[in-house]
Amino acid sequence: MTQDEEQGFSTRAVRAGQQRSTEQEHSEPIYATSSFVFESAAQAAARFSETEPGNIYSRFINPTVRTFQDRLASLEGGEACVATASGMSAILSTCMALLKTGDHIVAPAGMFGSTISLFNNVLTRFGVQTSFVPLTDFEAWEQAIRPETRMLFLETPTNPLMEVADIAALAELAHRHDALLVVDNCFCTPALQQPLKLGADIVVHSATKYIDGQGRCIGGAVVGDAQRVGKDVFGFLRTAGPTMSPFNAWVFSRGLETLSLRMRAHSENAMAIAQWLREQPGVARVFYPGLSDHPQHELAKRQQRAFGGIVSFELEGGRDEAWRLVDALQTVSITGNLGDVKSTITHPSTTTHARNTPEQRAAAGITEGLLRMSVGLEEVDDLMRDLERGLAAARGK
Ligand SMILES: *Cc1c(COP(=O)(O)O)cnc(C)c1O
Repeated sequence: MTQDEEQGFSTRAVRAGQQRSTEQEHSEPIYATSSFVFESAAQAAARFSETEPGNIYSRFINPTVRTFQDRLASLEGGEACVATASGMSAILSTCMALLKTGDHIVAPAGMFGSTISLFNNVLTRFGVQTSFVPLTDFEAWEQAIRPETRMLFLETPTNPLMEVADIAALAELAHRHDALLVVDNCFCTPALQQPLKLGADIVVHSATKYIDGQGRCIGGAVVGDAQRVGKDVFGFLRTAGPTMSPFNAWVFSRGLETLSLRMRAHSENAMAIAQWLREQPGVARVFYPGLSDHPQHELAKRQQRAFGGIVSFELEGGRDEAWRLVDALQTVSITGNLGDVKSTITHPSTTTHARNTPEQRAAAGITEGLLRMSVGLEEVDDLMRDLERGLAAARGK
């Protein structure tokens, strides 16, 4: 790992974590095996008691999964990574491993809908409460902290309104109160932003999105230090089993190889679409941190290498206009996923955030006229022509 760290990002994206087998394969193989054999009863005992390192059982150790974990840990600058079955299980595993009954979380009101549901509907049943605050209101974060606050959790930029949080400032706040800062780095990926280097303690990922990048597999990851992630989160996964499959890990490792290139291209296309959308009739607001009048534009410029591939926009009008736009599109796909080479569009209030209460949606700023577009790698001219068709339909033309 020390040697790894000396190499540049792109080199590590392609090379880190590979351990060639005696077959001398060039490309990483898929170890499709649930368990591993031992040379003797004594070796089996030594492996299980962890007095001898090595493979045991793929619920918690698999060489293909380990390659993905080591590669992502290297790219995020973490000591350890635990791959999980999904992004949500990465968040759940982090909470189950590091929190206990009576603990308290502070998190932004505007974030991924399932994360809000997990905190509100699941963790509360285990006696873990969450206070929700406006992401960019530092004083609100400070005031929400209680003696029992153990975790500040955020995603930046947020889904779907693309608000940007000051990671370094919130890390300092968390540490002053003996709490952890956990950052969901799904929208930026380590190619654009490395929260651990800004002071965050833990990074969680939905690998489903940009790390895969081609919309094939569901997966997640937790990255951080050797104790909390390498021992505590790993220990939870080993026992509870929200494990990533070797096949998915292989796909995600390949995804990491092209991540930097793709993130740059997604960001360029999204910037072009955001600037263009702003000039279009029927568009009330465009949410993209790359726009110079975005409230956290300067912060995003400091904190991120580029602005990412997600553009949200609000139509003049409500749900009817938004649905008419979506239904008129011929190239952009109507689907909930994001981070794909194919552009996708969703109507958050009736899809990703439909299971949140109207109050939660209002607090998150999710109106009926809001659309979230994940800008893919098609030609931008083709995307603009498609959106033009949608905007005309929204206006009843
Ligand atoms: C999709 C998403 C998740 C959840 O990931 P899954 O892989 O779908 O479980 C978490 N956070 C953010 C920001 C997401 O976009």
